[in-house]
This record gives sequence, C-alpha cells and structure tokens, in this order.
Amino acid sequence: MKRLLLILTAMVVAAFPINASAAWGKPARLGPTLNRSLEPDRTPGFLEPDSLMLEADASPLANYNYDELPRFDNAAEAGRYWAECVRDRLPDFAMVIEGHGEHENEVRWQDVANEYYNDIIDEGLRHTGEPDKGDYLRQIGDTYGGMLSCAFVKGEAGKRLIDGYIISYEPGFYYSSAEQEAQVGGLVEELIDELGIRSPRISPYEKISAVYDWLCENVTYDYENLYDDTYYVKHSAYAAIKDRTCVCSGYALLFYRMMLTLGIDCRYITGYVAGGYHAWNIVNLYGEYFLLDATWDAGAVNYEYYLLGTNSAYADRDFDDEFTSDSFKKAYNVPLCAYSVHAGERIGAADPDCAHSGRTGGGECSVCGAVLEDFELSAKGHRFENGVCTVCQRTEPPRGDLNDDGEINISDGVIMQRILAGLDQNVETSDFADFDKNGQTNVADGILMQQILAGLG
Ligand SMILES: [Zn+2]
Ligand SMILES: [Zn+2]
Repeated sequence: MKRLLLILTAMVVAAFPINASAAWGKPARLGPTLNRSLEPDRTPGFLEPDSLMLEADASPLANYNYDELPRFDNAAEAGRYWAECVRDRLPDFAMVIEGHGEHENEVRWQDVANEYYNDIIDEGLRHTGEPDKGDYLRQIGDTYGGMLSCAFVKGEAGKRLIDGYIISYEPGFYYSSAEQEAQVGGLVEELIDELGIRSPRISPYEKISAVYDWLCENVTYDYENLYDDTYYVKHSAYAAIKDRTCVCSGYALLFYRMMLTLGIDCRYITGYVAGGYHAWNIVNLYGEYFLLDATWDAGAVNYEYYLLGTNSAYADRDFDDEFTSDSFKKAYNVPLCAYSVHAGERIGAADPDCAHSGRTGGGECSVCGAVLEDFELSAKGHRFENGVCTVCQRTEPPRGDLNDDGEINISDGVIMQRILAGLDQNVETSDFADFDKNGQTNVADGILMQQILAGLG
C-alpha cells in the first residue's frame, strides 16, 4: 500500500510546569494542509491514490480538548482505537501518544509523530479475525488525511519535554456511511441463514462455495457507475450485499466479511492485473490458502478463478508487495495446485456420515508435492422426515429419548446436562436434543427437556 507522508501543519508549544496538566492553545498554522486526493476509477479496479492536492482548510485540532483526548502509550493500542473510529465512520478524530522525557524540543518531533501516524494505521489494519476490522477497513475511502502536533511541558533546567504527540485523522471521505455499515452485519447474518450455512455440520468447502456462488450469481459489476467518481458506495461491501452491484473491492470485502463471520480465515488481496488495480481474496481450506476472484467469475457458467494455486492465471497478477513478502507467504501457504488438482493417496481419509465425523486424511500431493494435513470433517447430522432419516434411514427416537433406549428418563436428562456443559460432543445425540430445531442445543432445549421429564412436554 502506498502511503504518502503526512505534512505537519500546526505546532503547538505550551510551556507549563512539569507537574501541571499539559495543554495546547491555539495551533500555529505553519502551512497548508496536504491531503491525498484520489484519482478516479478507470479500470475494473478501484481508486489508487497517488497524487497530492493542496487544501487550505482550518486546523481541526482546534476542535479538540487536549486533556480529553484518548491517550495511549503505544501504537498497537492506538491502532485499535483508530480501527474503531474508522469502522464507525467518524469524520475526524484525534488521539495522544504519550511523549517520553528523552525527547527534548530539539528532537524532530515531527518525524516521531509521523512514524506514529503511519504505525497506528498499520496496527489499525492488523488482521485479527474480526469480520468488521482488519482487511475490511483497507478500502473504505480516503482515510489518510490528518495532522500532527505536539504538546510540551517545561522540565528541569528550563528544558521543554514532550508530553504527548497529538495525531489527528481526517478521512477525506468514506465509500459507505455509518448508517449503511450499521446494516451490513445484520445483512451478513441474514444471508448466512438464507444460504443455510451456519451449522458446524456444514464443511468449510461447502460454506466457501455457497458464498462464492451467491456472489457470482447475485452481484453484478457496476458498469453503470464505474466512471462516476462521486458514486463512492460502489466500492463497498454494502453495495455488494444490499444493492447487488459493486466494483471489485465490494466483492472482495464482502467475501472477506462473510468468511470471517463463518469462522473461516480469509484475506483481502490487492495488486495490478491487466493494467488495472484490482482486489481479490485468499481463503483457508484445510490448512492451505487458495486464490479466488468473485469479480472475475461473476456471471460465469464455469469458474476460472476459483480456489486456485499460484500455478494458474494468478501468476500473471502483480500482487502488492506486502503479499509477496516472505513473512506473508509463510503465514499464508498458497500451494502451486488448485484445490481440485491436488492428488495422491490421503492416509486415514474417511467420509463423514450422518452420525460420525470423518477425516480428510494426510499425505503428499503427487502433483505439486505439497504436504496435505489431516483434518477432521464434522458429522453431517441426520435429515429426518416423517421420523426417518432421508440419508441413512435411521428411525428418529421419540422426543426426549436422547440415548434412544426406548425410555425417557433421568439418563436422558443427564445427557442433556452434559451437552449443555459442552461435555457431550456426540452429533447424533445433540441433534436429538435440539427440540426447537434451531441448529443448536442450548438452554431453551434444556428447559424443554425438563418439561418432557416432568410429563409436560
Ligand atoms: Zn498439489
Ligand atoms: Zn441419517
């Protein structure tokens, strides 16, 4: 990601006794604000900021009270605050990073503050597995404006010591509003239910393909607004899930958010392809990460960019530097083969059935040589219709007979307690105990069990 240096615009010098609270008064304006401006989208990609624009607006730092600003002593904590602020689409916000006595006023505090400014964003974008943080915040608009300042206090022998670096962020604009983003989480949950992929019985592969199919079948590329530079929302996951039309970042951000919500690790990848800036994903499937690009597969009958390895059409793509680093490649193991190409004997492989879990089996791919790890595959659960499983023909036991011994008694009550305490992981028993058929056995089912045992249910 390119990031231009922030240009400082105001320096506040307030000399106070060291034990008095630091304060800042009227910021002295040293020059015009330099903000990043964005070039419009001209390709099947999105905005790639690379130019500077002069803006002569007033310092927003005057709007803040130094003593009331959130105060941090490291960039990691400050980054988490940054992430919350941009997630909530605040138009501007500021924070203080604790100064340290060793920085006297001859130190170029601007350099230190500027480093914090960048580190805070890097920390704020850290991939944590939270669906509305990490990569989800990478492409949310022009978030790189801001200003730096510094508060001094008077130290011993007349030295001025830095009390804190004041760092403000003034996103030029967001692609989607706080109101729109507030809807995305709920829409994602609704879509997961609509696709029927919430249950842990559904395999990761089935979940990935259900979401990818949905994106490719229901979301169209927004050619209509492609050249409308002020139509920001086309870049967002909101546009993908709500308007069902967006540009590449919308597809890739929604896929990222859906996967993390489902507990499947995923990253948002950017780079150049066919001369345009573009976004796609990698997703975790049984210990490896595979490439996919819903934008380019949207509307296709046969997918050409789905769950591929590096030895594929993606070899022609110019991935942004951060995705080609050794540390990234080590953390995200993308094999040469596509998922469907991996071949060879998998030792210990077993298909799951209604009541029993299976395993992928481990081994080595005979095509690319990759080591294939052994993973457990969850039991599928019965599909009872009229008291008989349509898959395996098992007869459904009477309601409340969790151990299927023909009687409903205290043993069944004990099984229910063990399920609720997380001590009984038997898929079949847990299914029998899901009286309200909501996909999970929880306290509501426990209450129903009590009523059944009391002869009331
Ligand atoms: Zn392979
Ligand atoms: Zn069955």
